[in-house]
Amino acid sequence: MAEHFIAVENLKMWFPVQQDFIEGLFSHQREFVRAVDGVSFHIDRGEVFGLAGESGSGKTTTGRLILRLLEPTGGRIDFDGRDITHLSEAAMRPLRRRMQVIFQDPNASLNPRMTIGKAVGHALEIHNVAHGDKAKERVLEMLTRMGLTPPDRYYRLYPHQISGGQRQRVVMARALILRPDFLVADEPIAMADVSVRAMLLDLLRRLKDDFHLTYLFITHDLATAKYICDRIAVMYLGQIVEIGSVDQVYSNPLHPYTQALLAAVPVPDPKFRRTAPIPKGEIPNPIHPPSGCRFHARCAYARERCRTEQPLLLPVEGEPGHFVSCHMFGENGWKPVAQEVQI
Ligand code: SF4
Repeated sequence: MAEHFIAVENLKMWFPVQQDFIEGLFSHQREFVRAVDGVSFHIDRGEVFGLAGESGSGKTTTGRLILRLLEPTGGRIDFDGRDITHLSEAAMRPLRRRMQVIFQDPNASLNPRMTIGKAVGHALEIHNVAHGDKAKERVLEMLTRMGLTPPDRYYRLYPHQISGGQRQRVVMARALILRPDFLVADEPIAMADVSVRAMLLDLLRRLKDDFHLTYLFITHDLATAKYICDRIAVMYLGQIVEIGSVDQVYSNPLHPYTQALLAAVPVPDPKFRRTAPIPKGEIPNPIHPPSGCRFHARCAYARERCRTEQPLLLPVEGEPGHFVSCHMFGENGWKPVAQEVQI
């Protein structure tokens, strides 16, 4: 693979469906949830790469695969020029310091019985980086960088004694205490109050520059992604349907699903009228994904070919780096209605 900081090729994660004893006796074929099904992309050093899509699109599983928290069913993951797809846990250990994650729910991420000082400093002890006063010094410095001041006070508090936004800052401090260079931010502001979301996003941007970080930013909210990402991939039912720079995807969204996601973003203008049709129904069952284009059952533009033939992710003419997976784009001059998007 070409030299990118992160490169993912044809990545797959199929989870076996649990069967009970009777089902197992009579069924000849094992069934799988195809959470991630042939995903390829790269992330360059210093870039913020967004993965967007509805719940169930496979974006969180993709993040976990890159962190090697899951063993992939197929495909390849390169990290900083090294194939890490099947590294043993022992071989992964030194790399774990370099790749960290911020989960969506700070309440579930923090042990309620651990003080903030202990929670943030724990990784320093585990990885044998610093102990005692030295570790405390580093934790206090990190809390200050997160805006949790005076740090001595926060050091002694427990998670239930601070607000939700402050808890998310603690989670960020814990992720950064080992000075990683790659961070998976999985819906990092989704649980925060609207009033503090912009502040957390600004903090994430500042931390990226201060710590020379590269982000995989996972979100269902395209307005947030536009604010922070350099490039973005839109996922649907385990596959990427469109990928490009933020400018390309927001100013010229081509896949009907991307258009629908953008149409769902609230616009603070009562005169604004939407032109992209909202897709019908729910995301289909990933155990039996639809034949052909996986989006066809919900797509207002579906034709016969869409039901039988899976579209490839192909480059968009005249837009380097912009790819879309839709049969109809460009065919006989037909193109899904590109709506005006105002975010
Ligand atoms: Fe819709 Fe067909 Fe394009 Fe799929 S390939 S998005 S069904 S038009």
